[in-house]
Amino acid sequence: MLKIIVCIKQVPMVSELPWDSRTGTLKRNLAEGIMDPASRRALEAALQIKESRPAHICAIAMGPAMAEEILHQAQALGADEGVLLTDRRMAGADTFLTSHILAKFIRQECKEFYLVLCGSQTSDSETAQVGPQLAEELNIPAITYANHVEIKDQTIEVQRQVDDFFEIFNMDLPGLVTIDLGAYKPRYLALEGVETAFEKPCIRQINAEQLGLDASFNALKDSPTRIVDVYSPTAQKENRVMKGAVKKLVDQLFDEYGKVISSAMGKDLKTHEHDEA
Ligand SMILES: Cc1cc2nc3c(=O)[nH]c(=O)nc-3n(C[C@H](O)[C@H](O)[C@H](O)COP(=O)(O)OP(=O)(O)OC[C@H]3O[C@@H](n4cnc5c(N)ncnc54)[C@H](O)[C@@H]3O)c2cc1C
Repeated sequence: MLKIIVCIKQVPMVSELPWDSRTGTLKRNLAEGIMDPASRRALEAALQIKESRPAHICAIAMGPAMAEEILHQAQALGADEGVLLTDRRMAGADTFLTSHILAKFIRQECKEFYLVLCGSQTSDSETAQVGPQLAEELNIPAITYANHVEIKDQTIEVQRQVDDFFEIFNMDLPGLVTIDLGAYKPRYLALEGVETAFEKPCIRQINAEQLGLDASFNALKDSPTRIVDVYSPTAQKENRVMKGAVKKLVDQLFDEYGKVISSAMGKDLKTHEHDEA
């Protein structure tokens, strides 16, 4: 039986997310929580693998108690079990501690896992760090931004798009893959699945003590990264209208913006002129 772990995060629905212009922070508590769209695609990838071979899907979410909703949703979509890692002492974890805690649970309770799937990046914080950091913590190989995965015996074939071409990798398992936001269109939630998820829920809650975290552990304090400021960038473009004869205008353009154009093109235009001559 193929054991697949899917990491899913609950995020606020962005369209409802109010912004506190005074503090520059998001008022997360006022928005409805949904399954992070990239996590949902990772779950879809797992569900499609399960359609082709016997597999057991364990969905793990770390977050506040309300994040249990997305585990019900995962079960309704076809996950076999859900685990919520939740504790006030884990609140405020940065990506480093989030990966550390997810890895601690996986090492402790899912020893025979085969594949870990994550979304490429979340819709709220969007750092794209949890997947690769989790692979480091578990000491397994990882491939990010996958468009398609296919299990081949003891390996996995992973396809991803880079600019205008596709890359295809083969990776030994166990391993971790992050699924790109544009891949794996998520399926609709069937009523039958919703019934099962609510009549026979298979969801566990694990706290800091059960995870064996030190009594003094406090994620807010122990996280090595701090958010120093949050602000909306302001556009700093200057529009200029240049008038006159074309040759004069081109000379003027290169006189004033030559350095910028050279650095954008990756070559020194003046040197290049001499080369051509
Ligand atoms: C009690 C509690 C309260 C929390 N409150 C918040 C909060 O208010 N805001 C907040 O952003 N975070 C909160 N967290 C979670 C944690 O701090 C973030 O998940 C973490 O910093 C992820 O950063 P990111 O969104 O940039 O992840 P990315 O690196 O962009 O995520 C990439 C992928 O990693 C996986 N992943 C990321 N985070 C989680 C997770 N928590 N659980 C399972 N899989 C995950 C998903 O597959 C995701 O698609 C809370 C945690 C706890 C225990």
